[in-house]
Amino acid sequence: MQDLPRPVPRGDRDTAPFWEAQREHRLTFQRCSNCNEVRYPVGPMCPECRSFEFEWIESSGRGTVYSFTVVRHQTHPAFAVPYTVALVEMEEGPRLIAELKGDGAASPEIGTAVKVEWVDHPKQPLPVFVPDQEQS
Ligand SMILES: [Zn+2]
Repeated sequence: MQDLPRPVPRGDRDTAPFWEAQREHRLTFQRCSNCNEVRYPVGPMCPECRSFEFEWIESSGRGTVYSFTVVRHQTHPAFAVPYTVALVEMEEGPRLIAELKGDGAASPEIGTAVKVEWVDHPKQPLPVFVPDQEQS
Protein backbone atom coordinates (compact mmCIF):
# COMPACT_ATOMS: atom_id res chain seq x y z
CA MET A 1 0.00 0.00 0.00
CA GLN A 2 2.86 2.40 0.77
CA ASP A 3 4.09 2.30 -2.84
CA LEU A 4 0.87 3.44 -4.44
CA PRO A 5 1.57 6.37 -6.75
CA ARG A 6 0.65 9.77 -5.49
CA PRO A 7 -2.37 11.20 -7.29
CA VAL A 8 -1.44 14.18 -9.41
CA PRO A 9 -3.53 17.10 -10.64
CA ARG A 10 -5.08 16.77 -14.07
CA GLY A 11 -4.88 19.83 -16.24
CA ASP A 12 -7.47 21.02 -18.68
CA ARG A 13 -7.46 23.58 -21.49
CA ASP A 14 -7.38 26.49 -19.05
CA THR A 15 -4.93 25.08 -16.48
CA ALA A 16 -2.47 23.31 -18.80
CA PRO A 17 -0.04 26.30 -18.94
CA PHE A 18 -0.07 26.49 -15.11
CA TRP A 19 0.95 22.82 -14.77
CA GLU A 20 3.44 23.00 -17.64
CA ALA A 21 5.23 25.93 -15.94
CA GLN A 22 5.45 23.89 -12.76
CA ARG A 23 7.25 21.14 -14.67
CA GLU A 24 9.97 23.81 -15.09
CA HIS A 25 9.67 24.73 -11.39
CA ARG A 26 7.98 28.03 -12.19
CA LEU A 27 4.92 29.17 -10.23
CA THR A 28 2.69 31.28 -12.44
CA PHE A 29 -0.52 33.26 -12.08
CA GLN A 30 -2.85 34.90 -14.55
CA ARG A 31 -2.91 38.71 -14.67
CA CYS A 32 -5.91 40.38 -16.25
CA SER A 33 -4.92 42.49 -19.26
CA ASN A 34 -7.84 44.85 -18.58
CA CYS A 35 -7.72 45.57 -14.81
CA ASN A 36 -4.35 44.00 -13.79
CA GLU A 37 -5.97 41.70 -11.20
CA VAL A 38 -3.59 38.82 -10.42
CA ARG A 39 -5.79 35.82 -9.95
CA TYR A 40 -5.83 32.25 -8.77
CA PRO A 41 -7.27 29.66 -9.22
CA VAL A 42 -6.80 29.56 -12.96
CA GLY A 43 -9.87 30.39 -14.99
CA PRO A 44 -10.90 31.76 -18.35
CA MET A 45 -12.42 35.02 -17.07
CA CYS A 46 -11.39 37.77 -14.66
CA PRO A 47 -13.61 37.65 -11.56
CA GLU A 48 -13.21 41.43 -11.12
CA CYS A 49 -14.04 42.82 -14.57
CA ARG A 50 -15.21 39.77 -16.59
CA SER A 51 -12.46 40.22 -19.21
CA PHE A 52 -11.22 37.13 -21.04
CA GLU A 53 -7.84 38.76 -21.80
CA PHE A 54 -4.91 37.87 -19.57
CA GLU A 55 -1.19 37.13 -19.49
CA TRP A 56 0.79 34.63 -17.45
CA ILE A 57 3.18 36.14 -14.90
CA GLU A 58 5.81 34.36 -12.86
CA SER A 59 5.44 34.51 -9.09
CA SER A 60 8.32 35.49 -6.82
CA GLY A 61 7.50 32.30 -4.92
CA ARG A 62 7.39 34.29 -1.68
CA GLY A 63 4.46 34.74 0.64
CA THR A 64 3.22 34.45 4.19
CA VAL A 65 1.18 31.82 6.01
CA TYR A 66 -2.41 33.06 6.04
CA SER A 67 -3.88 29.91 7.61
CA PHE A 68 -3.06 26.23 7.98
CA THR A 69 -4.26 22.85 9.16
CA VAL A 70 -2.34 19.80 10.33
CA VAL A 71 -3.64 16.63 8.70
CA ARG A 72 -3.52 13.71 11.13
CA HIS A 73 -6.01 11.31 9.55
CA GLN A 74 -4.59 9.44 6.56
CA THR A 75 -6.98 9.32 3.63
CA HIS A 76 -4.60 7.99 0.94
CA PRO A 77 -1.61 5.63 1.32
CA ALA A 78 0.68 8.01 -0.61
CA PHE A 79 0.18 10.80 1.94
CA ALA A 80 1.89 9.92 5.21
CA VAL A 81 0.54 11.77 8.23
CA PRO A 82 0.96 14.09 9.95
CA TYR A 83 1.54 16.87 7.44
CA THR A 84 0.69 20.54 7.32
CA VAL A 85 -1.37 22.18 4.60
CA ALA A 86 -1.01 25.95 4.46
CA LEU A 87 -2.97 28.69 2.79
CA VAL A 88 -0.18 31.02 1.67
CA GLU A 89 -0.83 34.63 0.70
CA MET A 90 1.58 35.27 -2.15
CA GLU A 91 3.38 38.59 -2.72
CA GLU A 92 1.38 38.97 -5.93
CA GLY A 93 -1.91 38.71 -4.01
CA PRO A 94 -3.44 35.29 -4.66
CA ARG A 95 -3.63 32.71 -1.89
CA LEU A 96 -2.31 29.26 -2.74
CA ILE A 97 -2.87 25.99 -0.86
CA ALA A 98 0.17 23.73 -0.56
CA GLU A 99 2.06 21.57 1.90
CA LEU A 100 4.25 23.34 4.43
CA LYS A 101 7.58 21.69 5.20
CA GLY A 102 10.71 22.51 7.14
CA ASP A 103 11.38 23.96 10.59
CA GLY A 104 8.21 24.77 12.46
CA ALA A 105 5.91 23.22 9.88
CA ALA A 106 4.10 21.18 12.54
CA SER A 107 2.93 24.33 14.30
CA PRO A 108 3.52 27.40 12.12
CA GLU A 109 2.63 30.92 13.12
CA ILE A 110 0.24 32.96 11.04
CA GLY A 111 2.28 35.50 9.10
CA THR A 112 5.40 33.34 8.85
CA ALA A 113 7.39 34.26 5.74
CA VAL A 114 7.65 31.30 3.36
CA LYS A 115 9.04 30.56 -0.07
CA VAL A 116 8.21 27.96 -2.65
CA GLU A 117 10.28 24.84 -3.23
CA TRP A 118 9.55 21.97 -5.55
CA VAL A 119 8.95 18.30 -4.90
CA ASP A 120 9.59 16.25 -8.02
CA HIS A 121 6.92 13.62 -8.30
CA PRO A 122 7.24 11.33 -11.33
CA LYS A 123 4.46 12.92 -13.37
CA GLN A 124 4.13 16.42 -11.96
CA PRO A 125 6.39 18.53 -9.75
CA LEU A 126 4.36 20.22 -7.04
CA PRO A 127 5.08 23.33 -5.00
CA VAL A 128 5.59 23.15 -1.25
CA PHE A 129 6.42 26.01 1.07
CA VAL A 130 9.29 26.27 3.54
CA PRO A 131 10.22 29.04 5.98
CA ASP A 132 11.99 31.90 4.21
CA GLN A 133 14.87 33.00 6.42
CA GLU A 134 15.66 35.96 4.12
CA GLN A 135 12.18 37.43 4.51
CA SER A 136 11.75 37.02 8.27
ZN1 LIG B 1 -9.94 42.16 -14.84
